[in-house]
Amino acid sequence: MPVQVTPAAEADGVVDEDEWDEAEADEDRDIFHCFTQDYPTPADAVRAARSGEKVEWHGRIEGGLMRHRVLADGDPVVEQAVFMDGFLASAACCGWIQAEDRAEAERGILTTLTELHDICRPVLEAEIRAARPGYRARHLHAFSEAAVDTPLRFPRFGLRTTYAAREVAVWEQTRDPATWNMALSFASFLGFDEKIPELTRDALTARLQRNGVPVNRCARCGVPLTNRHPRWNGVWTWPIAEIGTLCEVPSDVNDHDGVYMFSDGDFGYPHQPEPSI
Ligand SMILES: [Zn+2]
Repeated sequence: MPVQVTPAAEADGVVDEDEWDEAEADEDRDIFHCFTQDYPTPADAVRAARSGEKVEWHGRIEGGLMRHRVLADGDPVVEQAVFMDGFLASAACCGWIQAEDRAEAERGILTTLTELHDICRPVLEAEIRAARPGYRARHLHAFSEAAVDTPLRFPRFGLRTTYAAREVAVWEQTRDPATWNMALSFASFLGFDEKIPELTRDALTARLQRNGVPVNRCARCGVPLTNRHPRWNGVWTWPIAEIGTLCEVPSDVNDHDGVYMFSDGDFGYPHQPEPSI
C-alpha cells in the first residue's frame, strides 16, 4: 500500500487496537483472495470470461470503493475501476435528482470527475514517486453506468482504466496504486481535502454547480439536499438514512434534565435549503 491511511473506525469496542491492526493487515493481503483463488492469472480469468462466466470483484478497501473485472468481448481487457464516494457522491446524487434535465446533470457529473482526476492524479503520482522513482500513474476515464435495480435510476459514476489482457501476466500489473488512492481521495473521512483543496465540500459543491449540476445544501448543517425524491416528494432530505430529513441540532435540545420526556425540541428541525437556488 503506497499511502498509509486510517481504516474506517467501525471496530466495536471489544476488539483491541493490535487485533484490529492485524485484522486489517490480513484483509489487505486477502484483497483479491477469492478472486485470485478462482483465477490465478489474468489469462485464467479471460478463459473463464470467454466461456460465459461473470469475472468480477468489487468491494471497499481501506475506505475506497473499487472494482476489478474482465471484459472478454473483442480484445479482452482487465478493467480497474474506482467509484465516486463520500460527500461528492451524495452531492451529485441530490443534484441529479433536483435537475430539470438529468442528462445534462449526468454530463456535468462526468465533467466534474474528469476535472478532479486531472487535479488529483499528479498529486497521487508524486506521492508514490517518493518510494518508486519514475512511477507513472494511469490516466483514468470518467464513466457512468445505468443502475437498473432501483426505481430512482441514479447512475453509478466512477473512473476507470483498462489493461489489454495479452500484455499482463500477473494480477499485480493490473492494480495501479494511484488509481487505488483516487478511490481513497473520494472518501470524505480520510482527509485528502487537507492536501488537495479542490476536494473540500465547498469546492466540490461549486464545481458541480459550475458544471450544471444543481446542488442545494442545507444553510444550517451543510449537507446536500433534494426535495424531489419520489418517496419524499416536497420534503428536503439527503441519502444518509440515520439523518435523512433531520437537520443537526444543538445537543442540549435532547437534554431533558430529568423532567418530562417529550417536548417541542424532540421533534427536531427540518433542513433549511439555501435560499439562493
Ligand atoms: Zn440541515
